[in-house]
Amino acid sequence: MKTVAVIGAGFTGTLTALRLLASGARVVLINRGHAMARGVAYGTHALEHVLNVPAGRMSAFDEDPGSFLRYVRTVDPSYDASSFVPRRLYGDYLQSLLDSAHLSYPERFQTRLDAVTRIEVDERRTRARLVLASGALLSADRVVLALGNFSPADPPVPASARQFFVSPRYIRDPWQDGVLESVDPDRPVLLIGTGLTMLDVALALVGRGQRAPMHAISRRGLLPLAHRDARNEPPPIHLPAGFLATPPTARGWLRALRQLVASEQALGRDWRDVIGGLRSATPAIWRQLPSNERRRFLRHLRALWDVHRHRCAPQLAAALSGLIGDGLLQVAAGRVREFDEQADGSVRVHWRRRGQTRSETLEIATVINCTGPEGDTRVMNEPLIEQLRRDGLLCPDELGLGLQVDERYALINRQGASSRVLHYVGPFLKAQDWEATAVPELRQHATRLATVLAPEPEPVMAQGPPDRRPGPPSP
Ligand SMILES: Cc1cc2nc3c(=O)[nH]c(=O)nc-3n(C[C@H](O)[C@H](O)[C@H](O)COP(=O)(O)OP(=O)(O)OC[C@H]3O[C@@H](n4cnc5c(N)ncnc54)[C@H](O)[C@@H]3O)c2cc1C
Repeated sequence: MKTVAVIGAGFTGTLTALRLLASGARVVLINRGHAMARGVAYGTHALEHVLNVPAGRMSAFDEDPGSFLRYVRTVDPSYDASSFVPRRLYGDYLQSLLDSAHLSYPERFQTRLDAVTRIEVDERRTRARLVLASGALLSADRVVLALGNFSPADPPVPASARQFFVSPRYIRDPWQDGVLESVDPDRPVLLIGTGLTMLDVALALVGRGQRAPMHAISRRGLLPLAHRDARNEPPPIHLPAGFLATPPTARGWLRALRQLVASEQALGRDWRDVIGGLRSATPAIWRQLPSNERRRFLRHLRALWDVHRHRCAPQLAAALSGLIGDGLLQVAAGRVREFDEQADGSVRVHWRRRGQTRSETLEIATVINCTGPEGDTRVMNEPLIEQLRRDGLLCPDELGLGLQVDERYALINRQGASSRVLHYVGPFLKAQDWEATAVPELRQHATRLATVLAPEPEPVMAQGPPDRRPGPPSP
């Protein structure tokens, strides 16, 4: 029986482990930190941090769409499929699935709280040895990297301003446990970034009693848009015939999408239905875009795409408007140029509004990095990623969106060959699919990967011609 080591027990690693167990594999699920089944997204305790997908669409299992809803209704029967429930409930749900798996597969399932710091593949390239932070060693036939979302990289600022990033007045990773405790609620803060992470942080600060202004700055100053009330949400539209034959350029797609939105709006539909309808087609569209057009999209359209595609729950959008209306949150488009630390413990932040040449100054107490998860594996400062990159076992994609994998989720190495042992599943699939960060997509990827890795049945010891078994199905 094959042993599969799954590294990372966020949503993706947890589901991959469950699927592998169901297929008969022996599984070791390893997660760093103090808890399984949380990851960055579901580790928060703040009740105001709700899921950005309604409960009815968050089941871990495509074949059982009601699984998560049933779970949350045991906690609070007033929840329905349209509810945006606290994210920590999703972590509880994943933990409950792991608990059941321990009961169902006591012989074949092991979980460990530890960090994998190194992976060595044997010379025959059929097995791997994992080195853990505790010093333990593990051996596995197959390894799944389900490493998920990493803390944000420092925001892009001029080189002269970078020395500030070692200051105690700077919070590089707002998702780190307890890190917001150091923020003085009576002194202004600067949030760099204006997307979903900023919203999370602003709400968490207000939840702790923030009274002084919060300033949020990003290049475009775009705020997350809201989901509609999910109770009245019609199904996504079907894309019209010929739509996918749009010329593969960033500009061509922008034009086609705008036209489609306009024609659907004329029929009384909402732009969100069009974005929803595009979701399953996005990987095919992305794969057709040549690399210069992907670059163009990332440079000019990414911020616009993100706010339309990655929306927040209606109650969070209302809370955001309230904060802005009360003057507690001030949002601007611009760039930070310099941080000037003062002897009295404050920081003067010099910044320029978008389109302006004149510099403005903010006097604040803390700077919080809200630029969102880091995805650039070319420069990522993570021991395991660094080692695999150095040893040529993984290959970052050229745009810094994730990792190169083949159609069986096998890592592609520096020589361009697919690994027989190392596989990847998770948000770094953005490199090939662009749309690969949320549960509805990740559950499909995790399920397909488990099918690829499913152990072949033991050979039957009988006389006669050899069994001609088909290979594992391709995803
Ligand atoms: C703040 C936030 C909120 C989100 N909210 C939603 C939402 O409401 N709905 C939705 O569909 N999607 C949401 N997402 C998208 C999110 O990408 C997916 O929902 C999902 O959580 C990703 O799961 P994952 O397992 O791939 O990654 P993660 O949840 O990040 O889990 C990866 C795990 O791997 C572990 N790990 C990493 N390296 C190692 C190592 N070397 N050794 C051992 N363990 C390691 C990490 O500690 C972590 O526990 C959100 C994302 C973020 C960042």
